[in-house]
Amino acid sequence: MIAAREAASRGREVILLEEHREIGFPCHCAGLLSIKGLAELGIPLREDFVRNIVKGASFFSPSGLSFTVERDEPVAAVVERGLLDKFLAEEASRTGVEITLNSKVKRLRRDHGSVSIIGEGFKAEVDLVIDAEGISQKLIRGVGLQPSPERCKLPAMQLDLAGVTLDPDYVEIHVGSKFAPGFFAWVIPLGDGEARVGLACKRGKGKVKDRLERFLRERFGDSTKPIEGSNRSGLITTCGPIAKTYTANLLVVGDAAGHVKPLTGGGVIPGGLCASIAGRVAAEAVEAGDFSETFLGRYEEIWRRRFWSEFKVTRLVRSVADRLSDKSIDRIFKAVIEGGVYREISAWGDMDFHGRSIIKLLGNTDFWRALPSTLGGLARSLLTIMGKTGLET
Ligand SMILES: Cc1cc2nc3c(=O)[nH]c(=O)nc-3n(C[C@H](O)[C@H](O)[C@H](O)COP(=O)(O)OP(=O)(O)OC[C@H]3O[C@@H](n4cnc5c(N)ncnc54)[C@H](O)[C@@H]3O)c2cc1C
Repeated sequence: MIAAREAASRGREVILLEEHREIGFPCHCAGLLSIKGLAELGIPLREDFVRNIVKGASFFSPSGLSFTVERDEPVAAVVERGLLDKFLAEEASRTGVEITLNSKVKRLRRDHGSVSIIGEGFKAEVDLVIDAEGISQKLIRGVGLQPSPERCKLPAMQLDLAGVTLDPDYVEIHVGSKFAPGFFAWVIPLGDGEARVGLACKRGKGKVKDRLERFLRERFGDSTKPIEGSNRSGLITTCGPIAKTYTANLLVVGDAAGHVKPLTGGGVIPGGLCASIAGRVAAEAVEAGDFSETFLGRYEEIWRRRFWSEFKVTRLVRSVADRLSDKSIDRIFKAVIEGGVYREISAWGDMDFHGRSIIKLLGNTDFWRALPSTLGGLARSLLTIMGKTGLET
């Protein structure tokens, strides 16, 4: 909808096809979004979709060590994602986008300078498609683009709880193999004694539902109650962008393009920012009457210029983090706490650009001193590889 809004606001004719009968539902998102990112996307903090505002996060290690990263001012909004999507749909409609519900696209076929859209009960031929199909990545296969590897798609599940006692200003992140091997469990305060609780984990590590039940029991005991109908599950992708996000007559955006932060699986802000670039390039292509691969390659050139180093560094850190034992994670927590580094992260940490924060963390001598020598070696190699990506400490 962000790509569609962008293209239509430049006077182009845009049709948006959605397979479901309602925009935003079913929803597969926790809705934790940086306030800075929302502002950059031109999304206001409106009461009809914002549930809470938070100013920091507390991180918990496998053995229970913890530190808090916080700011004096609000950092993130907790939104009802389905309602945010409805708001974006209204905005897109206002700019002239024609939204068609109950319209599942089954296949895309590129031929002779156009794309055929083959749907359930409909067919259309257009100059340009922006594929925003999400994590399923079924349609991009049909046009010869490479989807994300299956190993990057982690099963996730969450629900909303009532009757919780929780500081409404802080999100909780719990790492370690006990609850969420290969990812983390989250607790997001919604205010009024409610919280959104979920986790994702590597494939082959047991049922995510059983893991979530265990986490709920151990974190909250028996005093809380799941809110009916709040269960959400889905896949979180952690490998970063696919190899190529364009071809003649087609651009790929959002989860389908892998425009998701590899460390947290958060895709709304990076996906939205890249989608607005796609909408702009699409509008330019219409104006130039040029839908060639060469022209549309501008899209990838622009998003890579802004985000590539970030994706590369965080993807690397994700792959290192995936290999850490609980003991090593505990040692890193100890180094962050003893070196007082969490105070620095509070000052310069960025919810959407983790790469820069990690580089700064690795440039901190107190952190190095507190780190055991084995992990120090690992961090040094990471820093060397990062140096080659062009990000500076
Ligand atoms: C449990 C969970 C929690 C998450 N929490 C967060 C979070 O707190 N913050 C954050 O930033 N990110 C979060 N994410 C990730 C975030 O949800 C995604 O990055 C984001 O939704 C991607 O947006 P998208 O528009 O690319 O895809 P989607 O939101 O998946 O939208 C794709 C749309 O395309 C439609 N569609 C798909 N195929 C077709 C077809 N063939 N024909 C027609 N329509 C089709 C779908 O119905 C859907 O409406 C979470 C993900 C999960 C699973």
